[in-house]
Amino acid sequence: MFSGPCPCGKGTLQVDHCEKDHPWVEPGEYWYEGAVHCDICGPKYELRKVGRSFGLFDRGIAERNDARSREAWERRSKVLAGDKAQGYFKKLAAVLDEQPSHAATHRLLDGAGFYVPNIAKFRKTWRGGEHWVRGDRPDMAKVLKVLKVKDDALLAEIAAAEKHEAEPDKMVGAAVYTLPKDA
Ligand SMILES: [Zn+2]
Repeated sequence: MFSGPCPCGKGTLQVDHCEKDHPWVEPGEYWYEGAVHCDICGPKYELRKVGRSFGLFDRGIAERNDARSREAWERRSKVLAGDKAQGYFKKLAAVLDEQPSHAATHRLLDGAGFYVPNIAKFRKTWRGGEHWVRGDRPDMAKVLKVLKVKDDALLAEIAAAEKHEAEPDKMVGAAVYTLPKDA
């Protein structure tokens, strides 16, 4: 549906309107695919849809950013798996189990800013402190708040682990094609 010259001029940029002809696909379901057909520009750029326009993006930035954020997540998980963090989680689990009623546990979590479902659902789904601490990967700042413990060193360690660079994933130059209004 669109074809134009690539940045170096030796190849083409192409946008296709795609429809699946499988019977299980909703009738009228379609999408667009952008392609860079050029030995020089193809490895460098990808043609992506933004809103109703298509533009060139440096190939691989999104993947590299994903990889960085995955690495940050793993670093954070390592800190949270450490003795110090695990000790706090264990303490929190014990505090939650010591509460005299589901309502009290619910109040305690809610008051510390944790997400909790309404009390009726909470009663039905609550499976004990240990289970909750493991499943919900609770936010350490809130955990410390419930325990009334100050541990800025651990919070700083978690923040440092989470920190990662992200390359700006911006369109290179102007849009090369914009879908017509009726497309
Ligand atoms: Zn080219």
